[in-house]
Amino acid sequence: VAKGDIMTETTSRTGGKGVHPDLEPLLKLQEKDMAVGAADQGIDALGPAFAALDAELGEAERRLETARRGISDATQRRGDLEGKIESYRVMQERRRQRLEWVRGAKEASTLMAELDLARSVLAKEEAEFMRSGDAVTEAEKRAAEAEQALEQVKEAQAPKRAELEAQREALAKTRATALDERQDAAKGVKPELLQMYERIRRGKAPYALFALRGDACGRCFTAVPMHRRVLIQRGTHIELCEACGVLLYAEE
Ligand SMILES: [Zn+2]
Repeated sequence: VAKGDIMTETTSRTGGKGVHPDLEPLLKLQEKDMAVGAADQGIDALGPAFAALDAELGEAERRLETARRGISDATQRRGDLEGKIESYRVMQERRRQRLEWVRGAKEASTLMAELDLARSVLAKEEAEFMRSGDAVTEAEKRAAEAEQALEQVKEAQAPKRAELEAQREALAKTRATALDERQDAAKGVKPELLQMYERIRRGKAPYALFALRGDACGRCFTAVPMHRRVLIQRGTHIELCEACGVLLYAEE
């Protein structure tokens, strides 16, 4: 028995071309599996389009997040400056009080110098505080813009997303139908052949059955010996490719 021999079910055919009786249900099963595979590929093919939309949306969301962090940072800074100015004012007030009680002229002039210096520092801090208020306003404006931009992205994406979702849903439905038909088709295949079919499918070949291409295997293009080719073409045998192990059949 040749290595590739699976079924030597002799039919009443005496020559010419024929189809092995077990081949048709196998081919039907494969056709359904191809339909399932095509639906899967279609669903996978939508992936990049969904990913692109998600990336665009994510970018807009990150911008808004950054802008909102900008508000809280600016608010924090304004609060810090406010606290600092308040403590400077308290210190300045204490210097003024001390100046009222001070006796020595040297001590008084030192205090006066301190007061002057502190006044200019305070003025600088107050100017800084005003700017920090502007920074809060500016940050709020940027966040509002980012929020608006995010809404625009969502709005612009809505029809594209709806279309993609519809495509995905349609493909999922097609896939479910094909899978049902596939299960039905599998029932029509002899158990030992089904087992072999499944085993081949778990291997590297994308499908289990390949048509002869000239005198060679349609998958790996290794030549099939003439006597086995004749058996395949007559439909008396279902043969495996000796090189890659797929099931071979003759196309009508
Ligand atoms: Zn092959």
